[in-house]
Formats: sequence, structure tokens, C-alpha cells
Amino acid sequence: MSIFTPIGLPLMKNEKWGGIRVVSKLRRKSGGKITHTKKWSKTEASSRGWMIEHGLRRSFFQGEVCPICGEMRVKTYYRHPFSVPAHLPKGHWLLSDCLCIKTERSYERAKKQRLLSTALPDPMPPGLRGHSFRTFKVTELNREAYTSCQTFVRNFSSIGEGRGILLLGRSGTGKTHLASAIANGLKDKLRVSFACAPILLEKMRTSNVDLDELLSADLLILDDIGSERPSGWTMERLLLIVDGRLTNLKPTVFTSNYELEDFEIRLGMRAASRIIGNNLHLYLEGPDYRLSRGRGL
Ligand SMILES: [Zn+2]
Repeated sequence: MSIFTPIGLPLMKNEKWGGIRVVSKLRRKSGGKITHTKKWSKTEASSRGWMIEHGLRRSFFQGEVCPICGEMRVKTYYRHPFSVPAHLPKGHWLLSDCLCIKTERSYERAKKQRLLSTALPDPMPPGLRGHSFRTFKVTELNREAYTSCQTFVRNFSSIGEGRGILLLGRSGTGKTHLASAIANGLKDKLRVSFACAPILLEKMRTSNVDLDELLSADLLILDDIGSERPSGWTMERLLLIVDGRLTNLKPTVFTSNYELEDFEIRLGMRAASRIIGNNLHLYLEGPDYRLSRGRGL
């Protein structure tokens, strides 16, 4: 009787010795030809040293029949590829998969694959999903901010040290549109998070907000900073976010209706200095803005 081991060594029952005879095909000198035979006692043949020497990982002829499908499940001993503390076993036994286990596994795998392939939820609020650079109305008053934001998206991967953008200007000048265009341009490839500052701070006050997601997102849009009612508490929370983003070296795009001079009062000195100092300032101006401020081109 001859049974083949997983690496193809025929094992023959030696009638006379009651042990296992191994025909070694592994000898290099013989070029793989069967020239060498040696008698092994059963204990020798299954000893660990012998198995290692022959590159074997398997025990022989052990296993059990699956009561459901009737397929033979081979029992295999897997040695740990690293050294383990003396009191622990050197490896562990595993049974090979029978038909019913294989079927179940492939079903589980397909299920996992389906879950992975479904797209992540859109980070943008429904009303801002349509905002792109193409739908932005470019005028002489906002062209510079517009092109700078486009460059930001194009070069996003090479922007380091958490440097982001601070979009400034009166309400209605398109700050949120540009910030959304940046987010929409990157959200398919990167983890983007969007938050309206006053709403976020209110949410933080009343419930648990997943700060990790805000701090670790590849890009965070923090819309409308300064609009929240300033208090020690809101300033502290805002500083936590701004500081956390900088520590993680992740860029943030801020928008605000307020002048830089008002930042310290609205946001607190520390958050204000970090936001002003670490971001590119882009001013968006509209016709009304120009008239009332007497500023323009
Ligand atoms: Zn089975």
C-alpha cells in the first residue's frame, strides 16, 4: 500500500518493521530520482525533527469524516513559523475544509465582498452635493479664489503639514459653494468630512460627536466658523478640532463671514491664531460687498 504525502513522498507500510518507509525525492544529488530508500520507525517518521528536515508540515492519515457531506477532512498540524514560549504548543491542529464548509466560506466571502463594494455614504449634505467648480459662477471678483481652490484640489496629495484654506467674504459670495466644490472633487478618492461649525458645536453640546472621524478625515470642511455664539466652551471645542487637525497634519477648509480682525473675539485667541497662521486666505467679493465696503479692483 502506498499513500502520497502532500509533497509527494510515497509512504509505504513496511510489513516487516511495522513502520513507515520513506522514498526520498528531496535529495539534490540524485536529481530527484529515487535512489535512496531508508527505513523509518513510526515514531521516527512522525517526529518533529524529521518533519522539519523533510519540509513536512503534515501528520499522516489523520482526520475525520464530515457527518453532513461525508467528505474526509484531513487533520493537519501547522507549526508556528516563529518561536513560541516554552509553555505553549509549537503549533496547532487544523482540519481541512469539507464541501459544506467550503460552500459556507465562499458564501461568507461573497457577502463581505458585496459589503465592501457598496459605496461609502456621501459626506456632503444633500443640498451641497451639486456644487462643483463647473457650476460656480466665475467673475473678476472671485477668479483668484476660484483658481486657487482648483489648484488645491489638483495638488492635494502634495500639500503637507495640514495647510488648508480660509475662505473669507460676506454671505452670498460663494464661499460654501467653493468649499463644497473642493469636497466634492476629493470625496471619491479620500475621506472627506463636512461640518457646519455652529451646528457641529451645538451637536457637541447636546450629544456625543465622533471626534475621531473629524480629526482623522483626509479633508475637513468647517463651514461658517465664528457664527456660533462665542463662549469659553465653544472656543475650547473649536480649538480641540483645529489643534487635532494640525497634529494629524490634515488640512481643513474653513469658511467665515467674519473679518480676520474679529476672529479673536469670535473664536478665541488660540484657535484664531492657528486658523489664520496655517491657511491660505482667499477673499471672495461680490458686487454688494464692493459697494458697501468701497473696496474692489
Ligand atoms: Zn461537510
